Amino acid sequence: MPQRRLRTRSVRRVPRRLPGGRTVIRYERRKGGHPRCGRCGRPLPGVTELRGVPRSSRRASRPFADLCSRCSREALKALHR
Ligand SMILES: [Zn+2]
Repeated sequence: MPQRRLRTRSVRRVPRRLPGGRTVIRYERRKGGHPRCGRCGRPLPGVTELRGVPRSSRRASRPFADLCSRCSREALKALHR
């Protein structure tokens, strides 16, 4: 049984072959992906560094900040129709 902290899917299981031929399971943290638009899936522009940067400057401060500019324009238009 793996350690309790490794019993989660937020930790990746990687099979590694040792020099003796035995295969063991190593655990690696999943790498965070690039923030993407919630509608079209394109990467959001301008958001590159996620750590050490204030929360306010990671995303746009406008409504529909989780969408790219093109999709948020469409969303705003649909809202006011
Ligand atoms: Zn989009």
